[in-house]
Amino acid sequence: MNNKNIFNKIIKKKIPSKIIYQDKKITMFEDINPKSPIHILIVPNQKIKSINKINKNNKNIIGYMIYKSVRIAKKMKFAEDGYRLVINCNKNGGQIVPHLHIHMLAGKKLRNFC
Ligand code: 5GP
Repeated sequence: MNNKNIFNKIIKKKIPSKIIYQDKKITMFEDINPKSPIHILIVPNQKIKSINKINKNNKNIIGYMIYKSVRIAKKMKFAEDGYRLVINCNKNGGQIVPHLHIHMLAGKKLRNFC
């Protein structure tokens, strides 16, 4: 399937996915191809193509996405063991879906890569 609008379709529930949390600003759902036992994507409902498109008008969404990620980590009881938040940006950053998202990876000890 074309990656371009895939997250919009998930947000609008036009294609099925395991939605963990949704409000007016963001949607969180399970990654279809998990890279760790827990792999959640945190996505703004408003389409922002990548972190490069963050500007003074929309910058608050990033703080909100992180704040809600921490809330979910605590609610799902993996906050204390730990987790990793990742944002891929464009080609060299490994971004495939052009809709800003944070990966939340948890459930095992992750390898250090930086
Ligand atoms: P990126 O490489 O763009 O940072 O990450 C995109 C992520 O979206 C990948 O981890 C991929 O597995 C996930 N993904 C791609 N298509 C779908 C889909 O249709 N449903 C869900 N739940 N995740 C998807």
